[in-house]
Amino acid sequence: MPHTDLPGRIRSLDAYSPGLSIDEIRQKYNLSVVIKMASNENPLGCSPLVQQVIARKAPYAFRYPQSGNPRLCEALAERHKIDKAQIAIGNGSDEIIDLLMRILCEPRKHSIACFEPCFSIYPIQAQINGLETRRCALKSDFSFDFDKLLEKIDGSTRLCFVTTPDNPSGYCPEPEKVAEFAQKLSVRAPECLLVIDEAYMDFAPNAGTTSLLESGKLPANAAVLRTFSKSYGLAGLRIGYGILPDDLASYYWRARLPFSLNILAEEAAIAALEDYAFREATIKIVREGRKFLATGLARIGCHVWPSAANFLMFKLPKNSISAAECFEKLLAKGIIIRKLASYNLPDKLRVSIGNTSENLAFIEAMEAIL
Ligand SMILES: *Cc1c(COP(=O)(O)O)cnc(C)c1O
Repeated sequence: MPHTDLPGRIRSLDAYSPGLSIDEIRQKYNLSVVIKMASNENPLGCSPLVQQVIARKAPYAFRYPQSGNPRLCEALAERHKIDKAQIAIGNGSDEIIDLLMRILCEPRKHSIACFEPCFSIYPIQAQINGLETRRCALKSDFSFDFDKLLEKIDGSTRLCFVTTPDNPSGYCPEPEKVAEFAQKLSVRAPECLLVIDEAYMDFAPNAGTTSLLESGKLPANAAVLRTFSKSYGLAGLRIGYGILPDDLASYYWRARLPFSLNILAEEAAIAALEDYAFREATIKIVREGRKFLATGLARIGCHVWPSAANFLMFKLPKNSISAAECFEKLLAKGIIIRKLASYNLPDKLRVSIGNTSENLAFIEAMEAIL
């Protein structure tokens, strides 16, 4: 059947290009070890306690999960000292981003707002959902111009996404600035929800005061998104959650497919919340590795942007090779990092913080290449 009559917003979607897999790279370059520092995954892997729980619960895979994930909601309410009625759980925070659009927005009528460049899921899901994306350029140092972002927003804008710490730069705005923006937003567009994506907040210095969620100062018109993909090391299980205002969470649960979080993912998430030591160890190794990589890259003349996340964005020294060439040369040495051409930053690269030996191998490879 030829699909010639699809909606334009679907026909114009680009195919996702995942790049070569670890196995394909190993074969192509005849390597025994491939190091992946491309997707901001956990350098410690995933908690051994979580692995035990998954194995122990495997026999229950034949059961449907409990609808509404009440046990995980309870555990998250406890972790953040909030009312469990505010919690939304999704198949990755990606699912929550998509559902918020479908719940709050009318196709072809409403818009979303975000900075440019930003996490690609916001504009892509907006397009799929028939929503215009209003983009506000980041400042040249990758910091946020909240006043300019506010100017992009009007009565049709139902969602505004702010990522803190930001991807791909690692920039983290002061919490007072975010709160001030939320206040101005509530005046300019009372119907617009500010979505603060805190996927990387655990890695920020002083997360307890940097996060409006942790400090108990979440404005009434704001939601926070968190994920188990980064500091908890469970990217492959797809678990995200949100803290939503007022009655929005109840609509979220009505709109969500009943079983989008699978039964083993739910058990894993509950166990991961209990393994405090693993999360602390992750945060420690990321903060140390971040310093090591930033120093190492600066030593060979790269410009490194300050990062509060588990990755660093950097630019190669003037008059050296191109970012694309550097990426390919690292691949040939079995190290995968992230090109930022899809973020419209073709002269920059992003490297995820690895474990001690991965970080060392990356810096040695960079020294050899430059
Ligand atoms: C990694 C990441 C997420 C997490 O997405 P999941 O769907 O929970 O894996 C969310 N937001 C940003 C900006 C990210 O980089």
